[in-house]
Amino acid sequence: MARVAFIGLGNMGGGMAANLAKAGHDVRAFDLSADALDRAKAAGCLPVDGAAAAVDGAEAVITMLPAGTHVEAVYTEAAIPNAAPGAILIDCSTIDVATARRVTEAATLKGLLAVDAPVSGGISAAAGGTLTFMVGGTEQSFERAEPFLQAMGKAVIHAGSSGAGQAAKICNNMLLGATMVATCEAFVLADKLGLNLQRFYDISSVSSGQSWSMTTYCPVPGVGPDTPADHDYQGGFAAALMLKDLRLALAAASEAGAATPMGARAAELYEQLAAEGQGSRDFSVVGQLLRAPAA
Ligand code: NAD
Repeated sequence: MARVAFIGLGNMGGGMAANLAKAGHDVRAFDLSADALDRAKAAGCLPVDGAAAAVDGAEAVITMLPAGTHVEAVYTEAAIPNAAPGAILIDCSTIDVATARRVTEAATLKGLLAVDAPVSGGISAAAGGTLTFMVGGTEQSFERAEPFLQAMGKAVIHAGSSGAGQAAKICNNMLLGATMVATCEAFVLADKLGLNLQRFYDISSVSSGQSWSMTTYCPVPGVGPDTPADHDYQGGFAAALMLKDLRLALAAASEAGAATPMGARAAELYEQLAAEGQGSRDFSVVGQLLRAPAA
């Protein structure tokens, strides 16, 4: 088993680091939060007093941080200067494609291997070791990263070259944001047309309008499987994080010259939710914005 540095022990990273320790790795853990470090210790990791101390002597350096600025700072100040030659740097945060490519290039110039490896699956998948990883990097980097990612997930997929993992993640989440809005919209219309909502679910979930947002994550309380909608939209995937991912997708679309009108409309609605103070609720709460009668 290997020595692994884990930096960023929040909602996602806490569970992921615990699973690496459970798999027998020697996990040196660092976070700015003392509470997060205490939880990592209780989960079998060794807390250390800085990112550089975590990276020192590690075969793999894993980061799970809020955004690109945090990743770039940790890579520049701690990971790249302190990593052992040949170490693999694995960033699992959701960040912009340009930063992902930039930090990988900087690592490669120092003789290190690096991949972007963002995840699909929320806090429960991080705790349960059932995340899906989409990985961007060279074949050699992917092969080095894969065994560490396998210990934290149910699927590890090589998306392509550096940045491809982040590209896959933001395209997937833009699709998710748009289908969730469309699913909520269909339920609101069905309701106004006098349809029984469970009956509409029974029909649509086996018809051509079916999607993950309908069948697995139904946004209507009391309809379909148990979802955050049945718990007053608590837990699940925060609307603020959906907004973050939509903004990343729109910025990438603008740079690449891609038309994303559905993604742009979904982002507007999630902006409105955040402005109304609902950013910490599950993203399926977006349907509540659509209930008011059209002007
Ligand atoms: P979080 O805010 O709970 O955790 C981030 C952690 O990073 C915090 O504990 C913070 O103290 C720590 N941190 C920040 N700067 C640091 C630094 N310089 N050094 C050390 N630690 C530092 O966030 P999260 O929900 O765990 O999400 C992490 C990443 O995963 C984000 O990019 C997010 O978009 C992505 N993601 C989250 C989910 C989800 O459901 N929460 C799902 C998929 C992907």
